[in-house]
Amino acid sequence: MAQVEGFILRSTDYGENDLILTLLTESWGKIGMMARGAKKTASPLRACTTPFTQAVFQVYGHKMFYVQQGSILNTYRNVRSDLTSTSYAVYAVELMDRVSPDKEPVSGLYALLTWVLESMERGLDPQLCARILEARVLDFVGVMPAWLQCAACHLPLSESPYFSPVLGGPLHQACGYAQPDVMETNLNLPKLIYTFQKIPLERIGNLAVSETARAQISKIFQYLLEEFAGIHLRSRRFLDSMNI
Ligand SMILES: [Zn+2]
Repeated sequence: MAQVEGFILRSTDYGENDLILTLLTESWGKIGMMARGAKKTASPLRACTTPFTQAVFQVYGHKMFYVQQGSILNTYRNVRSDLTSTSYAVYAVELMDRVSPDKEPVSGLYALLTWVLESMERGLDPQLCARILEARVLDFVGVMPAWLQCAACHLPLSESPYFSPVLGGPLHQACGYAQPDVMETNLNLPKLIYTFQKIPLERIGNLAVSETARAQISKIFQYLLEEFAGIHLRSRRFLDSMNI
């Protein structure tokens, strides 16, 4: 018997009464666990099987883990009481599920998801939390451009009026003229995104980000996730359809 703490990323039906839980843990990475009888109304496990619940599980087994018992650490009650926050939390766990390798702990991923959910719970703007998460996930999957360097000439830049979808990075004004289909951006966008990517999580408060910059960052990050990393998520389509 072992004890493991984690976030429920996913809960999948297995037969009539059982669930397979996908859990993100700090020490074991992403693992699957069989929760026998967890679909039954009377099951004490039922409460710990909802996505983004944080719980401690007693598990046994070798190749496959079986859940003996679970106790909830945090249900993120405030997040769940608000549709926008819930939708962003569902997006956060789906994104983490997609990028976390099986049974391989990755330094920082657990802390990142903890930060996202705890910050939303405390009332930090869920959209901002999602963008910070994406910035770090893009970095982790290796498709985040160097934001303080021109994607065309590779010389340093601190301000940029353009993002190139083709080159996947910011451009000097002069370099932008020569590139097809550039997206116009706020001049300070490279610095802002660099901050999103690098600022220690514990120092993030409610960063002041204009509506225009938010929309641009959202569009660029979604583009990088989908076109460069091949990550297409149902929960993201839901957020887009809700326009939140
Ligand atoms: Zn350049």
